[in-house]
Amino acid sequence: MIRASKRAMGIEYAIRDVVLPARELEKKGIKVIRLNIGDPVKYDFQPPEHMRKAYCEAIMEGHNYYGESEGDFELRKAIVEREKKKNGVDITPDDVRVTAAVTEALQFIFGAAIDSGDEILIPGPSYPPYVGLVKFYDGIPVEYRTIEEEGWQPDVDDIRKKITERTKAIAVINPNNPTGALYDRKVLKEILDIACEHGLFVISDEIYDLMTYDGEHVSPASITKDVPVIVMNGLSKVYFSTGWRLGYMYYVDPEGKLDELREAIDKMARIRLCPNTPAQKAAIAGLTGPMDYLREYMVKLRERRDYIYKRLNEIPGISTQKPQGAFYIFPKIEEGPWKSDKEFVLDVLHEAHVLFVHGSGFGRNGAGHFRAVFLPSVEILEQAMDSLEAFMRKRLSS
Ligand code: PLP
Repeated sequence: MIRASKRAMGIEYAIRDVVLPARELEKKGIKVIRLNIGDPVKYDFQPPEHMRKAYCEAIMEGHNYYGESEGDFELRKAIVEREKKKNGVDITPDDVRVTAAVTEALQFIFGAAIDSGDEILIPGPSYPPYVGLVKFYDGIPVEYRTIEEEGWQPDVDDIRKKITERTKAIAVINPNNPTGALYDRKVLKEILDIACEHGLFVISDEIYDLMTYDGEHVSPASITKDVPVIVMNGLSKVYFSTGWRLGYMYYVDPEGKLDELREAIDKMARIRLCPNTPAQKAAIAGLTGPMDYLREYMVKLRERRDYIYKRLNEIPGISTQKPQGAFYIFPKIEEGPWKSDKEFVLDVLHEAHVLFVHGSGFGRNGAGHFRAVFLPSVEILEQAMDSLEAFMRKRLSS
């Protein structure tokens, strides 16, 4: 047998791993309500019409060639305008790189920054590729605590404690996946202060930036003075275009501390040639076009969030914080016979036919929890919550 690399064989991705047992049930004709994957386009959301048209037109008009490795200049200009308006940042198209979505930006950043044994501080719980990709590049992902009772805000003291000689960067995912937390300006300021003290840079994942319910997103890029910040964003969530695989990153680095990293990232960008050309034309339409679709979609998402939050807190043995952004909720399993959160999730799947993701799949700090997406309609969420409630009542009384 030809051996695969340990690096690749070690990769885990809980969100998709739980799909295999669900598929087995579905093969037997059992209907499973899937609340595991954060893809709005699988539900009643689509990219706005002006973006879809622009994508089709780009193809028909012949924009089907290899583009620049940095990304389309017009698009980088549009990104600068969007980000100036949203975050007040002082950047030019030269500070922007277009990527195959945030996932490729993460590969670029970790690939360019990590030498063997370097540490990246990531929120715990965390979106799984932060663990997987840091490890893939032979680095060490170090989870910092986020505080459930405070709506999953980062524990700044814990960040301080976890800094070592090998720490390179602090990653911030805000609004957060899997907790739906929206980070306070004060906490972000403190994170920047720690980064400043230790000569670190901040990686800011803002893929859900305009998807907030009870407050506004604050970017560390908007409040940094001299700490370098790399912001990542893209079309997948706010522009409802998950399958187009398009995103971007930009540097806010007034003192040029990231110059070498930028050069390394450009080398990585060149060996992967370029991002998707027609999708970039659609992105220009999205970033410069009307946003009224988002208002409409957020009305639906808010109704779904309010519904699932209320129902989950009424179910015995379960409690949950209220998500302030994105479309995830991260409840706690308060009591029950299960030895682990994964056992709980599989039991719910087999008995109640609802698919969640186990909290420990998002790192050690996620243990004892599970993640649900609230993207389906209230009617579907109601079915899922009814099944979960019946399941919990049965398990807790036996
Ligand atoms: N970052 C976070 C926090 C996410 O939740 C996701 C997807 O769920 C991604 C990045 C992936 O984004 P993209 O589709 O742009 O690769």
